[in-house]
Amino acid sequence: MISFVPIDETKRIRLDDYALDPQFSTVVADLRSEFDPLRARIGNRRVFMVNSTARGGGVAEMLPQLVLLLRELGLDVEWVTLQTDDRAFFHLTKRLHNLIHDDRRASPILSAEDARLYESVNKENADSLRPHLRPDDILVVHDPQPLPLAVQLRAELGLRFLWRCHIGFDRHTDATRSAWRFLRPYVERCDHALFSAPEYIPSFLAGRASISHPAIDPMSHKNRELAVHKMVGILCNAGLQPAYGPIPTPDFEDQAKVLGLDGEFGPAGELGLLFRPMVLQVSRWDRLKGWQGLLDGFLRLKQQVRENTVPVPRERNQRRLELARLVLAGPDPSSIQDDPEGIAVLDELCDACAHLDPRDREDVVVLSLPMTSRKDNGLIVNVLQRCASVVVQNSLREGFGLTVTEAMWKGQAVLGTTACGIRQQIRDGIDGVLTTDPECPDEIAQHLRALLVNPARRHRMGRFARRHVYEDLLIFRQVARYLRALARVVSEGRHPTA
Ligand code: UDP
Repeated sequence: MISFVPIDETKRIRLDDYALDPQFSTVVADLRSEFDPLRARIGNRRVFMVNSTARGGGVAEMLPQLVLLLRELGLDVEWVTLQTDDRAFFHLTKRLHNLIHDDRRASPILSAEDARLYESVNKENADSLRPHLRPDDILVVHDPQPLPLAVQLRAELGLRFLWRCHIGFDRHTDATRSAWRFLRPYVERCDHALFSAPEYIPSFLAGRASISHPAIDPMSHKNRELAVHKMVGILCNAGLQPAYGPIPTPDFEDQAKVLGLDGEFGPAGELGLLFRPMVLQVSRWDRLKGWQGLLDGFLRLKQQVRENTVPVPRERNQRRLELARLVLAGPDPSSIQDDPEGIAVLDELCDACAHLDPRDREDVVVLSLPMTSRKDNGLIVNVLQRCASVVVQNSLREGFGLTVTEAMWKGQAVLGTTACGIRQQIRDGIDGVLTTDPECPDEIAQHLRALLVNPARRHRMGRFARRHVYEDLLIFRQVARYLRALARVVSEGRHPTA
């Protein structure tokens, strides 16, 4: 049975709240002025967002604020999620997800039995959603899970559907081809599709798809501005900085922990986060995030500094490099017990740290971030990204990479890679730097050195980065892109039997 997801409106941030801030008044005004003509095209049609989960994952995180802003503009929007007790359905859709990302470990054989399972779970959900629908409604379907539901309801009621695909890979391989072959009969029925990068659009959708980058909410706990005393307080509450006196806010219920010399995660104590130049990566513990390559690159830099093999012109810069610390931060392992791959990646990283030369070990901090409170987690990530000298996202592959957007918004010059999602955001040498080989220690060391010793260049790139996010990657632009796509679905949607 489909489930309607209630959205807590008590803590909503309204467009008027954003507009009070001078930096957002223009973007909010742009959104409002673009809305009127689009509204005329969309009419009074209701919009149903459909995805597969109300909790966990980027889509579920982004939908509440998106729905609230669309409602505030005057659209009638509901959010519904697929429900099933059949775990095999989610194994299948996870496999499709992995195949689209060219994960060779996923079996590329998709059988008629798989198609039956995919359709039967969707049919149950479609049947329970049908009584709530009118023929002029629009379904916005997120990712592959609910596609057959939309195809069925489109055929039965004549309503239209927009497919928002949040995943993709920029090459065609046997794995990606098998997933797209399976999905094609459903995807082809959509009226329009949105992807995060042009490279992800399958050729059979050419002319019927456009680009919609993910976006961040600049007033969320993860991205809002923080005064210096707030940042220090958050570090103290999170257990990442000893408080030298009484502080008004209570400690977080769950605190951050640091990997100790005994190989266990424990209280962090004094890490020098406020004093030593920090090279930071925050990500899930996933091999594709390039943790090992970043560690090797950082250690190569430290070795060069110790041996003075690449002399640095000014003493102050030499000091910066000597004091620089690598902080690798990711989710508390207890929060990812259902992700054995993540646990294995973290174990390997801990093992690599255990075997470091003691001089290097002192320069590497592995942080476990509490995940029980979204607010506390967001605030910690926010502070770390603001306190860093260089934020790195050394991904081997990246669908988009919101961590990059988040750091760019905070005026950081991000050291990224040429992974497709990251190159959608960073123009190499303008608003950040791109490593061509995330597994080459020399290249990473060279970029880190260049960024660390040249704060003026970093700040200049950081200003471009922030501007770039402001122009394209804030939630207001995303709302406008959805509105345009909805209007397009209405005016260009094909006849249901097409
Ligand atoms: N994140 C977090 N805490 C962590 C690790 C990651 O809040 O310990 C957040 C991060 O700030 C970002 C999201 O998880 O908002 C990851 O999104 P991204 O697009 O970078 O990568 P994905 O995890 O979707 O591959």
